Amino acid sequence: MMDQQCVQLRQQQQQQQQPPPQQVPSKQQRRPRGWQAVEAPSSLLRTHNAIRDVLEALPPPHELTTSNGKSVIPLGQGDPSIFQYLKPPECAELALVDVLRSKKCNGYAHSAGSEECRRAVAEYYSKGLATNFTVDDVFITVGCTQAIEFCIAALATPGSNILLPRPGFPLYETFCSYMGVKVRFYDLLPEHNWEIDLDMLDMLTDRNTVAMIICNPSNPCGAAYSLEHLSKVVEKAAQLRLPIIADEIYGDIVFEGQKFYPAASLTVDVPVLTVGGLSKRWMVPGWRLGWILVSDPLGVLAKGRVLEGLAKLAQLTVNASTLVQAALPSILQNTPDEFYERSILLLQEGAKFCCKRIQKIPGLECPSKPQGSMFIMVKINMAMFVELRDDIGFASALATEESVIVLPGTAFGTPNWMRLIFAAPPVLLNEAWDRIEAFCNRHRSKC
Ligand SMILES: *Cc1c(COP(=O)(O)O)cnc(C)c1O
Repeated sequence: MMDQQCVQLRQQQQQQQQPPPQQVPSKQQRRPRGWQAVEAPSSLLRTHNAIRDVLEALPPPHELTTSNGKSVIPLGQGDPSIFQYLKPPECAELALVDVLRSKKCNGYAHSAGSEECRRAVAEYYSKGLATNFTVDDVFITVGCTQAIEFCIAALATPGSNILLPRPGFPLYETFCSYMGVKVRFYDLLPEHNWEIDLDMLDMLTDRNTVAMIICNPSNPCGAAYSLEHLSKVVEKAAQLRLPIIADEIYGDIVFEGQKFYPAASLTVDVPVLTVGGLSKRWMVPGWRLGWILVSDPLGVLAKGRVLEGLAKLAQLTVNASTLVQAALPSILQNTPDEFYERSILLLQEGAKFCCKRIQKIPGLECPSKPQGSMFIMVKINMAMFVELRDDIGFASALATEESVIVLPGTAFGTPNWMRLIFAAPPVLLNEAWDRIEAFCNRHRSKC
């Protein structure tokens, strides 16, 4: 009896040690495909990133300069580091050098991020919000871009749709279309500080709507929502049972007289996935460190296994640089208040200067002044520039004739606007506006 059991057990064990069987084609099926069958999936080829499309369609900078003799002023891309004007805090550079020299950060980190890094993000937000976030509430990602990608992917059930702002950051739509999520746009109101058209949220939401994305302070609009407005937004999300993906990469970058309110701080029931990162506030977009902060007061995301989904997504990719992760705690703890204050002051001056110049140019208008972030949306009265046809014509002629690069509003879903970054040194902004003014004077219709 004993022996028999032993033999059985051993047989079982041997079976378990075999690799699992795999599917093998039958003899008739065994026919290789031809080289002509090698192809990329159409779901991938259909995707596009509107900002990259526009920027990459322009002649390269050196060609612009040789053809018109003017140096390029790149106010198109949202990269504050290109002007070397808003610099990263010194403590960030030191922290990175330290961890590099320690030789302890050359390996892989946990797929959701190193524990120290996640704790640092949790503590940073616990200060601002009246909640105690823990390591488990944080996922570290490769920039805020991947944070957005993960949040959409973790909610993208078949047939679902997501509500996006218009004008809005084009990447949201890029990811949705790749993942087969339908997009529905709610309008931001240019005459009302780019506030959200709340009635549209009611109109657009159905049983397949899985989330809304809000961007505050806003790219491309430069809006920073008031407590009153943002409260109404989260209240609406509560009524409609809509989880919020809050893109707060420009969090705290708000100007005089404004205060920044994190969406997660204003609700006791709506699940909020806050996404952020080092790129914009610390001026190091190339360091590629972002995060997701989970606020799930009623346990909705946990119950729907969305958090488990986020953890799976993290395991699909190897995480952000271990070096930058290791530097993050000291960056968040040691960046002096003066650094933040100075960045805001410089940005605010840039915004003010743009507004002043726009006022003096017939045909251009800025109905709502920037209250935060790094961007200004300028309305182009195309009736006054008939020969340029539309915002794309305007932006490409401005590039070829004046070497000033701006993004046409079409890239953000709003034709006949343009977006500029104002995180540039005053001399450069001044030169850019001199050229834009001359360009407008030259092209303004005579009739
Ligand atoms: C720049 C930007 C991002 C992406 O930030 P990375 O951390 O560089 O990936 C996300 N959202 C908005 C609104 C941005 O402007």
